Amino acid sequence: MKEIIEVENLSFSYEDDYVLKDINLTINKGDFIAFIGPNGSGKSTLLKLLIGDLKASSGQVKLLGKAIKNFKEWDKVGYISQKVRDFNSSFPATVKEIIGAALYQEMGWFKILTKKLEQRIDKVLKLVDMFDYKYRKIGELSGGQQQRVFIARTLISNPEIIFLDEPLVGVDAKSQDEFYKLLAKLNGELGITIVMISHDIYVISDQANKIFCFGNNSIFVHQAEEFDYINYLNQIKGDNKSLVPKHEHQGVNSRCC
Ligand code: ADP
Repeated sequence: MKEIIEVENLSFSYEDDYVLKDINLTINKGDFIAFIGPNGSGKSTLLKLLIGDLKASSGQVKLLGKAIKNFKEWDKVGYISQKVRDFNSSFPATVKEIIGAALYQEMGWFKILTKKLEQRIDKVLKLVDMFDYKYRKIGELSGGQQQRVFIARTLISNPEIIFLDEPLVGVDAKSQDEFYKLLAKLNGELGITIVMISHDIYVISDQANKIFCFGNNSIFVHQAEEFDYINYLNQIKGDNKSLVPKHEHQGVNSRCC
């Protein structure tokens, strides 16, 4: 199936005013989509509609060919939130336990991690380059390492698509770069579709193949190679929380908007 997500005539309002009005769009298998736009323009709202967390006021969302209200294959859908989780170093769960919890249904009556299940944990930890941290407590890891563990947890069920809602808020520059390399690998080598809300110009200019630009209850879809992000930065000047230029996460404190 080429289309992973199909959105038809979708409108949504929390109260009286529409946040999104009459949206039509398609996300194909293997796409790397960046959602960009000013704060309050509806990025998180659309993401919640796509994962069935919110119900459309009208129109419809299809996920993997099924209307969202009938969709059941949630193991094929990963979600990484922006919340930097509040684990302190004494939080008791290890990386292995955090990922193992995703295998709970498969553990059988006695809830034991069989050798096969353990091998699956090892495989996803190697994929995200966190195998050496298997027995570490989650609260001892940096924000970026924790997000990689949560990606591994998602990968355990071979997802077709991963949604990320600004996953790198509060994460240091080096870890951000490692995380982006990981996303490129998941997208390029494993063919996992990525949909990411991001304020980072690097994601928009270097990683995404399509840019969904939010504003005025609408979404404009751009091919990344045609997207004039310098012009976009100029347009949104003044809303300086909207996009963070790449140099900022390289440690150079210069803003261009
Ligand atoms: P973005 O992710 O682009 O910052 P959101 O999707 O979070 O934007 O919000 C879009 C609009 O909907 C904003 O005006 C916001 O205040 C409003 N909104 C978001 N969540 C709620 C809610 N639970 N109840 C009422 N209004 C909301």
